Amino acid sequence: MTCIVKLNNAVDTLEEIYTLFDKAMAAFSFACTKQCADCCTCNVTTTGLEIAYLQDRLDAGRLDDIRVRLARAGQTRRFRPFQTTNGFALACMEGRDADDQENDPSWGTCPLLEDGICTIYPVRPLGCRVMMSTTPCRQAGQADMPFFALTITTVFMQFVEHLDAGGVYGSFLDLLEYAQKNVLDCNRLPKKGKIPGTTQNLKIPALMIPPEHVEKTRNLVQSLRRMIQENDGPLSSA
Ligand code: SF4
Ligand code: SF4
Repeated sequence: MTCIVKLNNAVDTLEEIYTLFDKAMAAFSFACTKQCADCCTCNVTTTGLEIAYLQDRLDAGRLDDIRVRLARAGQTRRFRPFQTTNGFALACMEGRDADDQENDPSWGTCPLLEDGICTIYPVRPLGCRVMMSTTPCRQAGQADMPFFALTITTVFMQFVEHLDAGGVYGSFLDLLEYAQKNVLDCNRLPKKGKIPGTTQNLKIPALMIPPEHVEKTRNLVQSLRRMIQENDGPLSSA
């Protein structure tokens, strides 16, 4: 029972973080529009908690639709990360290589996309939310993110990972497939190793904020700290 209450708290906190992220990003002028979806590939990554959130918020019909879409798509090649965002921060701090797996958008479109529209848009993971560009990607051949927007998205990625520290991190489609076949319980989602190609979420070793953005992100970071503290106690190292 305690575990379920804790999971519910974490899921609610995650939703608050998403809301804060969407609000922070509204300050920028992005070219992203409905049905512009070149960024919706099979290579999105996520935390286990974000899958638990999605399962909690969607009704049975929508979850069934996901199951059908995943089955129809089959086992396509996907980006399977070696490293999380906080893992990357730790590697940088320790002077280690921060190499990751190959990632190629030509491996395919996300099966949850229908006529250029995301079928789970309100509950999509942060890995989808952070994909934005000030010029249409198709025109520029890549996404164009203002430096400050990049800092904000990185900070949110770090806090969302921290919220699920010890939980699993990996391919969005791999974790969705796992969750469709397994009932979520007090252990919510498996730890690293149980699903091939996944790794483990870490606590924040240090926030990756360039010196020129420290002051500008202070309030945002304080809000994120407050939200996380309600779940796991003081964030002494973040
Ligand atoms: S990130 Fe690029 S492809 Fe995705 S919605 Fe924005 S402009 Fe379109
Ligand atoms: S879940 Fe939705 S937003 Fe994310 S990649 Fe798939 S279609 Fe796009």
